Amino acid sequence: MGSSFTLLSKKNKKIDCLFIEGDDAIRDEKRDKKRVDGTKWIRENIEKRQVWGSKSNKLIETLDKIAELSKKDKKFAKTYQGKIVGIDTANYEKDNRPYLYSGLYRKLKNTPHKLCATYHVGEDFPTLTNGLRAIDEVLTFCEYQPNDRLGHALALGIQVVDYYQKKRKNILCSLGDYLDDIVWMYGILYNSGQSEDHQYLDYLKGTFDHHRQLISLKENNQISFSDYYDAYFLKGDNPDIYSNLGKQDIIDDTDYIRFTKLYPYQLNHKHPYHKKAFLNKMARSIYMDHSYDSDFVGLLNQPFKGTATDIFIACVERVQTCLKNKILKGRIYIEANPTSNKKIAYLDKYIKLPALNLNHRYLDDSKTMINLPISINTDDSSIFQTNLVNEYSMVCAALIREGYDSQQVYDYIESLVIASNVHSFIKKQ
Ligand SMILES: [Zn+2]
Repeated sequence: MGSSFTLLSKKNKKIDCLFIEGDDAIRDEKRDKKRVDGTKWIRENIEKRQVWGSKSNKLIETLDKIAELSKKDKKFAKTYQGKIVGIDTANYEKDNRPYLYSGLYRKLKNTPHKLCATYHVGEDFPTLTNGLRAIDEVLTFCEYQPNDRLGHALALGIQVVDYYQKKRKNILCSLGDYLDDIVWMYGILYNSGQSEDHQYLDYLKGTFDHHRQLISLKENNQISFSDYYDAYFLKGDNPDIYSNLGKQDIIDDTDYIRFTKLYPYQLNHKHPYHKKAFLNKMARSIYMDHSYDSDFVGLLNQPFKGTATDIFIACVERVQTCLKNKILKGRIYIEANPTSNKKIAYLDKYIKLPALNLNHRYLDDSKTMINLPISINTDDSSIFQTNLVNEYSMVCAALIREGYDSQQVYDYIESLVIASNVHSFIKKQ
């Protein structure tokens, strides 16, 4: 945890000299306030984009320099070359959506240094849909590829019905987050490839339409579902680019290709839906307002209270399953952090860890279970006072106490050990 952007070395030890710390005091102060002040939110996001943009440039310069010096000096090369293998992001998730950092992920992943990526996400969320969407935002906006990883991803392992029962079916978040959740779920279910999921689409669209007047700046100019939906897919873009487009209202295919060459990382153009969204003038305008119009941001950031109806809960269950399938198909790996998750998710027993719902190979033979590729990790071993041996032992002991056959448990643990080697960013030369 912590506001940080961390480099992973070959031994998976954090490299202190390149650890970039955020401002915890400011962040904690922000958490305690209801945010309806659009100006502050906009200013902070602009600052974050600038700060992380320049820090990622420094990282690339460092890697370039290491590569250059390594050519001249074998001893230097042995010590430093190829030691930085990946990047990691960990932060309070509220107000730090993955789309905000996605440009630097795309840039760092496309350097000749070929850094792998992990992202601690879906751990700390106001609503389950919000946590699931944050996980998907990493896949959608950060150009995730096979062998990249998600840290925690607790939202994937939470039992949806239980979750809403515990919350007394209350949905408490910002209005903007709620509407984003609705359009995002629509997209997931529309593209699921399962025709039965289409039964939920009218409900989701109707829910958006029911609330859309709440985000309209002018009474007779309400945002349509399709424009808001398209605008969602522009969130990975650097909005500063949109300012540079000036008054260019009509953008055609040729312009689009030109922009993607001009701004290869600032635009999320490798995503299959990006082009359609970008060519939609209204969607671009909504995204500009979302990035720079304090009145509009104020409307989006107003507190929202809703009820999780049966159909809403059914949607979330299907969306969670679709997201698991997407992760499995994309060969994205999940870092489970037992002690960290137990403490942060306020669980009283290791057996209740959401990660244990993500993979049951060797434990149960259920054919309906989606076994996601997980590995066991420490998260931050000094903060959580743990080590890998302890983490494996806790999981093993919890399963045996639960009554699983010991041979099955050992086979399960062994499969996790093998997985951790497969998932490693360090590839044998
Ligand atoms: Zn973490």
